[in-house]
Amino acid sequence: MSNRITSLFNIQYPIIQAGMIWCSGWKLAAAVSAAGGLGIIGAGSMYPEVLREHIQKIKKATDKPFAVNVPLLYPNVEEIMQILVAEGVKIVFTSAGNPAAWTSFLKAENITVVHVVANTKFALKAEASGVDAIVAEGFEAGGHNGREETTTMCLIPMIADTVKIPVIAAGGIASGRSMLAAMALGADGVQIGSAFAVAEESSAHPSFKQRIIGAAEGDTKLRMQKLVPVRLLKNSFESAVAAAEAEGADAETLKVLLGRARAKSGMFEGNLEEGELEIGQVSALLKEIKPAAAILNEIWQGFLTEKDRISQFNY
Ligand code: NDP
Ligand code: NDP
Repeated sequence: MSNRITSLFNIQYPIIQAGMIWCSGWKLAAAVSAAGGLGIIGAGSMYPEVLREHIQKIKKATDKPFAVNVPLLYPNVEEIMQILVAEGVKIVFTSAGNPAAWTSFLKAENITVVHVVANTKFALKAEASGVDAIVAEGFEAGGHNGREETTTMCLIPMIADTVKIPVIAAGGIASGRSMLAAMALGADGVQIGSAFAVAEESSAHPSFKQRIIGAAEGDTKLRMQKLVPVRLLKNSFESAVAAAEAEGADAETLKVLLGRARAKSGMFEGNLEEGELEIGQVSALLKEIKPAAAILNEIWQGFLTEKDRISQFNY
């Protein structure tokens, strides 16, 4: 197939694996790219030299296109941007920050730039900054989340009707049928996180992967809205945050409660109670740990099957 997203990235399927701290290193990104999607290295959990190593490894592992996600609220962004240029990275996804900050710098280096937004105002701002496409991420998504709590079902048509550049839908998508729904809402492609967080090649701790595939409906909550909204699996840390928030905790108190390296502790080191476990609502639908290529193929085949099923309705 070919559309604005497959052409923009020169990939086979309009399926993008989200940049996810502590989960999407070069192994996962390489597997997704090699299978015909777009794999993304999540730079947010990498010291600059670690990121350089991951880029060099993915270049050896596959000659297919790949991208790097840079969450702009994380440290060392300037050094990271210099590494992306020096290593010849061709596609960059920026998120959690102002797209005006880095888009012209990256575009001047002939890099394709995509920015992640969670509302129409930021979508317009991203388009005005000159990005090539937008990821519109709804409330269902794991990890950092928008403040407006707009669901994917409402967000995608709003943004698709507002901007001219291609829109990639994210948040709650993990199967062919949700991909088809997103495309029907006006998206040109989908970005998928949670389903790839449990891929065999994901760098997430095995215990975290098991916890995700065991998750039930209602097991994730959006917390820390006064700091940066984050969707988490319920555990001791999440309960402590909920209790503090019920007492009206401010941003500073939440920051102290979060402490240092909680995300690493939970997702990378497997501390399931005291760590921070970022995952989307769709975790309740994930049941198996599989290779990334199998996940991608199932989503694509499911998309074709569902499209066919709907086209056979009697109108
Ligand atoms: P602020 O809300 O103070 O924002 C700092 C500056 O960056 C402002 O100029 C703001 O725009 C702009 N900005 C922030 N996020 C975006 C974005 N996604 N797209 C375009 N411009 C953006 O900074 P904080 O660090 O306190 O909060 C970060 C913001 O980012 C919060 O609103 C949060 O909900 C959001 N966020 C969104 C994510 C996502 O898109 N998935 C992920 C993580 C955070 P303006 O001047 O218009 O306010
Ligand atoms: P922390 O800031 O708590 O700790 C840093 C962690 O990132 C450590 O695990 C560290 O690894 C690793 N790391 C990777 N690259 C760097 C680097 N360049 N400099 C320092 N540490 C690095 O990590 P978080 O991931 O929780 O938060 C990152 C950013 O997001 C911070 O700015 C934080 O304020 C912000 N934030 C996070 C929220 C969350 O829910 N996690 C919520 C609100 C804001 P090592 O242990 O190996 O040193």
